[in-house]
Amino acid sequence: MSDTTQTTRRTAGDLAAALAAGETTSVALTQAHLDRIAAVDGSADAGVHAFLHVDAEGALAAAVASDERRAAGAPLHALDGVPVAVKDVLTTTGLPTTCGSKILEGWIPPYDATVVRRLKDAGLPILGKTNMDEFAMGSSTEHSAYGPTRNPWDLERIPGGSGGGSAAAVAAFEAPLALGTDTGGSIRQPGAVTGTVGVKPTYGGVSRYGLVAMANSLDQVGPVTRTVLDAALLHELIGGHDPLDSTSVDQPVPGLVEAARQGATGDLTGLRVGVITELQGEGYQAGVLARFHESLELLTAAGAEVVEVSCPSFVHALATYYLVMPCEASSNLAKFDAMRYGMRVLPEGVDAPSAEQVMRATRDAGFGDEVKRRIILGTYALSSGYYDAYYGTAQRVRTLISRDFEAAFGQVDVLVSPTAPTTAFKLGEKLDDPLAMYLNDLATIPANLAGVPGISLPSGLADEDGLPAGFQVLAPAMADDRLYRVGAALEAALHDRWGGPLLDKVPALEGVAR
Ligand code: GLN
Repeated sequence: MSDTTQTTRRTAGDLAAALAAGETTSVALTQAHLDRIAAVDGSADAGVHAFLHVDAEGALAAAVASDERRAAGAPLHALDGVPVAVKDVLTTTGLPTTCGSKILEGWIPPYDATVVRRLKDAGLPILGKTNMDEFAMGSSTEHSAYGPTRNPWDLERIPGGSGGGSAAAVAAFEAPLALGTDTGGSIRQPGAVTGTVGVKPTYGGVSRYGLVAMANSLDQVGPVTRTVLDAALLHELIGGHDPLDSTSVDQPVPGLVEAARQGATGDLTGLRVGVITELQGEGYQAGVLARFHESLELLTAAGAEVVEVSCPSFVHALATYYLVMPCEASSNLAKFDAMRYGMRVLPEGVDAPSAEQVMRATRDAGFGDEVKRRIILGTYALSSGYYDAYYGTAQRVRTLISRDFEAAFGQVDVLVSPTAPTTAFKLGEKLDDPLAMYLNDLATIPANLAGVPGISLPSGLADEDGLPAGFQVLAPAMADDRLYRVGAALEAALHDRWGGPLLDKVPALEGVAR
C-alpha cells in the first residue's frame, strides 16, 4: 500500500490522534486526500465523480494554518486539521454552491452556512463540494445536472441520493468525513448503499442556516463517515443552538462521542429494541433482510431485548412525504427567478422581454425534469380548492405518524429497520420510473416527517450481489445519543463477524479516472 493509500484509509478519529501525537501534519494528510481525489474521482464520464468542485488551494491553506496553530500549542478542536467534504447544497463563501443545478451554475455565496462556519472555526480543511441530485431531489445522484456520481463498490451502480457525492467520497477514501443533508433519506440511503455511516440528527438539532432549502420542515444536515465514532465527533462539532435558524433547538447536544465510546464496549444490557413491523418483508431484497436479521441477533447477543412494534401509519409515509415535500419545494424554489441568483436566460425572438418571460425562459432552461415535476406537483397540491384535500390531509397523516413514533417509544428505547429496501441498483435502471425511485426511501421518510433522529450503518454484504446493506436505528427526538450507543455496539459486533470494517473490501479504484 502506498503512503497515500494508508493515510486515506484511516478514520478521522485516528487521523486526529496522529495529528495530536505529532506523527503527521494536516498538510500531509490533506495532500494525501487531494492525491486520492486526483487518482479516483475523474469526471462526469469516468471515475467516482463524487466532487463538483475541489478546492486544493483553500484546503491546503487551511491545513498550513492548522499546522501552525498546533506547532504553537493551540489546536482549536479535536478534529483541527482533519479534512472534510461538503455537500453542494450548503453555502460556502469563495466556493461555488450549485445544488447540482444549472440554475445556480457559477454562483458563489456571500456567506457560509453555520455548519460550514463551524467546520472552518474548528480548523477542518474543506476539500471541496460534493455532487448531489438537483436540489436534493432523488435517490441516485442521477438527477444532478453535472452527471451522476458512481458507487465505489461498482462504478456501474448508483451511490444513492441525493447525497451520493458525500457518501461516495467517504467510501472511496477521498475524504475521511463529509456533510450531507437528509430530507427523506439523503444521508442514510446513500450510507446504506455505499457501506458508510450516515446520521440524520433530530430536527432542529443542527442549524439549517445556509442550507439551500428543499423542504424546510424536513431538511437536516448531518455527518457522513466510515465509523460511528467519527460520525459522533462530526455531529457534536456541527450541532447545537444557532440563533440564525429559528427552528434550532436551544438545548445542549447530548454526549454523542461519550455514547459511541460506551456503545463500543459492546454491552447493550437492558436496551429495548423495536423492529418496525411495517418496514420489512415485501419489497425488501432477500440479502438485505438476511443482513438485517443477522444484526438483530447480534443486538440480542449484546444483551438487548428485541421485540416487534407496529407503526400502522408508516404505510402512508411515502404518500405523505410526496405531498408535503413538493409543496414546500415549490414554494422554496420560487426564489430562483433569474433576478437574484445564478443563471438568466432571455427568451429567444423577444425584443423587450417582460420579467415574467425572462423568469419562464430561465426556469425552463435552468431546472431539470425532476425539479419541474415536483414544482408542478407542489403547485397543484397547494392550489385553492385542492389545498385541504392534499396538503391538509398530508399534514394530518403526518400527525398520525408522529403519534405512532410516540406510542412505539413508550414501549422501546430505539426502533430499527433496514435502511433501504435494496442494495445499489444499476445506473439508469430507475431513471425513467419516478415511483420506483421514490420507493427507495420507504424506510427513511417516517423519521423526517416526525423530526426524530436516525442512523444508518453498514450491516454487511448481501449474498446475492456482494453489495453493502444498511441497518437503520431511530430514536426519540433529542435522544440522538442512543443512535451512537446502539450503532457503536452493533458496529463492533459486525467487525467481528466480517473480520474488520466492511469498507476494507471496497475495490481500490486506483487509476480508474485516467
Ligand atoms: N430521495 C428523497 C427525495 O427524492 C429524499 C431526498 C432527500 O433526503 N434530500 O426526495
